[in-house]
Amino acid sequence: MFQQITSNHPLDTFNHATKIDLMSSVYLDNNATTAIHPEVAQAMFECFQHGFVNPESQHLLGREARRTLEAAREQLGALLGLHQADVHADHLFFTSGGTEANNLALQGYQQDAEQKRRLVISGIEHPSISTTAAWLTSLGVDVQTVNTLSNGQIDCDHLKTLVNKDTFLVAAMLANNETGVLQPLEAIIEICEPMGVPVHVDAVQAIGKTDVHFQNLGATSMAISAHKVHGPRGVGALITKHGAVPRPILHGGFQQAAIRPGTESVALAVGFAKAVEVYLEKKDEHRKQLLSMRTKLESGVLEQLDCAIVIGDDGPRMPHTSNIAFQGRDRQAVLMALDIAGICCSTGSACASGSSEPSPTLVAMGLDEQTIEGALRFSLGIFNSDADVENANKQICAVVSVL
Ligand code: PLP
Repeated sequence: MFQQITSNHPLDTFNHATKIDLMSSVYLDNNATTAIHPEVAQAMFECFQHGFVNPESQHLLGREARRTLEAAREQLGALLGLHQADVHADHLFFTSGGTEANNLALQGYQQDAEQKRRLVISGIEHPSISTTAAWLTSLGVDVQTVNTLSNGQIDCDHLKTLVNKDTFLVAAMLANNETGVLQPLEAIIEICEPMGVPVHVDAVQAIGKTDVHFQNLGATSMAISAHKVHGPRGVGALITKHGAVPRPILHGGFQQAAIRPGTESVALAVGFAKAVEVYLEKKDEHRKQLLSMRTKLESGVLEQLDCAIVIGDDGPRMPHTSNIAFQGRDRQAVLMALDIAGICCSTGSACASGSSEPSPTLVAMGLDEQTIEGALRFSLGIFNSDADVENANKQICAVVSVL
């Protein structure tokens, strides 16, 4: 029924299953999702073969599935710096992804908030935070949005003016999905902690690209997702400090202490833990490779195109994300021309019509219209090569010159 996975390149696995020749495309959209790592696929394959059983079942096989699930939870927790030694241990609740983890934090803590009404979010949050916050306003929550500096970082001076005794939560991301700019979480927590205000961190884009250690971060909760780190789609987690468990937003069985009910997928949990393990084993090597490829991509484009500027390059950035604005060009037209040339990139946020809305992150940074209108995101991954970057450079310069 199943075949052993032998290929070293993840796209090979999909080539057999699709009619699209993925190998001839240069995939520079790794912030949207990443290819599953062969070692992750192998670990999940073995799990599916032996561990299809419901981990809630009381029989021997169920107990074995439970052990495998809890081992994956513990491994993932250890890799991400959770405190797990004693009764004060942090918690890790598996969810369906980053979106659900962010919803569980915002909605779950809001239900716990008693008299407190204020939620503070940054102006560059992913829609799973900003849209949830917008919905919470309809329940009477006072949502305040922090300004963004022109370098793409959250404005901590403005944050100070918004956090007060009525604040039940501050939500801020660790790394921005559109610019790759790393956020000043340490400073944010320094502002919130003395006032007893919990901080929820969206670390979805940060894991697998930069060091993430939950205890060192000092946040109250953190959302993560497997498919951004060469793990499977459909699994994420909300990590919470001991004593800061949110109210459930789903109701059902008693799985995961009834905070996130629903039958757990052992294979997804195993795949998630394996993905983070694989990343950490080679993180320095990968970081070097990604940085070198990004430098080549950016310098190649900047040398040849006067209209190009790199957004957010004056702040600390993740090594693999490059948001380049081709001033005077229409991002949608550039994206489509690059697509035809075999280069996959992104305009940031897609809207229902298949075109794109201006990126809220770039708008929040106060960039001019010409820059925003011409901005495209290129996100590299560990399966990209120097040849991919050379090809992308050639196509970008050709396409932008004629448009
Ligand atoms: N948060 C950030 C910063 C993201 O970039 C994404 C996905 O792009 C999410 C949350 C949502 O994660 P998921 O796709 O696992 O629901």
